[in-house]
Amino acid sequence: MTQEELFKKLIAHCKEYGFIFPSSEIYDGLGAVYDYGQNGVELKNNIKSYWWDSMVKLHENIVGIDAAIFMHPRVWEASGHVGAFNDPLIDNKDSKKRYRADVLVEDWMAKQEEKIEKEVEKAHKRFKENFNREQYLATSPRVLEIKAKMDAVHERFATALNDNNLEELKQIILDCEIVCPISGTRNWTDVRQFNLMFSTQMGSTADGANTVYLRPETAQGIFVNYLNVQKTGRMKLPFGIAQIGKAFRNEIVARQFIFRMREFEQMEMQFFVQPGTEMQWWSEWKETRMAWHRALGFGDENYRFHDHDKLAHYANAATDIEFNFPFGFKEVEGIHSRTDFDLGRHQEFSGKKIQYFDPERGESYVPYVVETSIGVDRMFLQIMSAAYTEEKLENGEERVVLRIPAALAPTKVAVLPLVKKDGLPEVARQIIDDLKYDYTVVYDEKDSIGKRYRRQDAIGTPFCVTVDHDTLNDGMVTVRHRDTMQQERVKIEDLRAMVEKAVSFRELFKKIKA
Ligand code: ATP
Repeated sequence: MTQEELFKKLIAHCKEYGFIFPSSEIYDGLGAVYDYGQNGVELKNNIKSYWWDSMVKLHENIVGIDAAIFMHPRVWEASGHVGAFNDPLIDNKDSKKRYRADVLVEDWMAKQEEKIEKEVEKAHKRFKENFNREQYLATSPRVLEIKAKMDAVHERFATALNDNNLEELKQIILDCEIVCPISGTRNWTDVRQFNLMFSTQMGSTADGANTVYLRPETAQGIFVNYLNVQKTGRMKLPFGIAQIGKAFRNEIVARQFIFRMREFEQMEMQFFVQPGTEMQWWSEWKETRMAWHRALGFGDENYRFHDHDKLAHYANAATDIEFNFPFGFKEVEGIHSRTDFDLGRHQEFSGKKIQYFDPERGESYVPYVVETSIGVDRMFLQIMSAAYTEEKLENGEERVVLRIPAALAPTKVAVLPLVKKDGLPEVARQIIDDLKYDYTVVYDEKDSIGKRYRRQDAIGTPFCVTVDHDTLNDGMVTVRHRDTMQQERVKIEDLRAMVEKAVSFRELFKKIKA
């Protein structure tokens, strides 16, 4: 199965099993907007708890807030979003399709890397056990040629982005002979800037309505509350403010399911530090955040850091954590050193002093900020694409299983009476009544046990508990484990401890240095 086929299957699976539906589907949907279904919302809430608790519970010096989506319009002037929150767009005149010019070039560079990998594979086959990868990469004329071309484009690309040089960006697309994937032609328009913020009117027009924006990031809600939280919480530097909430961006191209949405959710933490210590904190947060991802057990090789070619107007260092999605390594989270840009600008635009009196240094200053910013929906997609597995069983049957880490699974336990009579449903209900205050538990009595197991596998339920006739005599149930499909007899009174051990965040948190 190709990665593309796998991705298509995953999207279909998300719909079929109540994880994600296209928004307003009965009206044929709305571009790049999605709804979460009955299982999706549970997984999403668990992701948010994993993040929130790892920030707010594990760190004495991090607190949370929940700011409004609408903010004073001046906020977005101060932050630079009104003037500079743009993406470069380009249209193909034949297909009439619109693309992000920077993404076209990035995809071209990824293709060159694939070409190099193919050369390596070919040489490996030729030289067999005598093959030395490093030596080959350093000496093969073909590889060196591709690399030289790539490096030259990379340098031009980074300069063009930093200088906002749109003509040069188009020239790179022409020079690299990039074609539109739909029409296959190089008939491109000029590159133009496009502001990604949605705006709307607040108040009635008669009163003189104000243009307000739907926030394109949650971070500004934290910055404008810096003084409130610092003063009321008597916070000492370094300290952090965490927030989870919706953000909105009028994305130019939105073709990758929930990877790029126009309405999405962010989990952001702004960490306020002494000026001059920001690089150290940036490195530390990079490691902490990487550990948070890796703790989920999807394989360390599927994550990497990617430093930015173009630093945003507010940053002096920035890296992304990328995950190996079915469509390649892509950003899940950004870790940015934002300097004193945001607080400094709000100080300037609001006319209010936004500073910290540092008793150690005996002076007041605008704190520096290190930000960790992750999209809930991208994290969701990461988990789904890593968890989705098709398996052929020994008896020839196939099953689809979602290997979602137990702590994040939408449903923790399914309780299944073997038959719908003889008092078995009653015992099953008693088990549910005991577990439901702590865990998401479901009851299912329809179809054969085998079919019921498959249904739970497909939504990633770690435990199926079957109540049979023996249960009535010995007080034991059969627990079937999702990943291994192994079964064991467990006393009803031991169920809770077994579930707790597997689904608590404790084991995940132990793997994160905090
Ligand atoms: P990209 O380069 O993919 O457009 P970005 O660098 O603009 O992303 P940031 O502004 O750093 O993204 O936002 C922080 C995080 O928010 C991203 O790492 C991503 O997980 C999430 N995010 C950003 N834009 C979207 C979107 N349109 N849909 C879903 N998640 C998003």
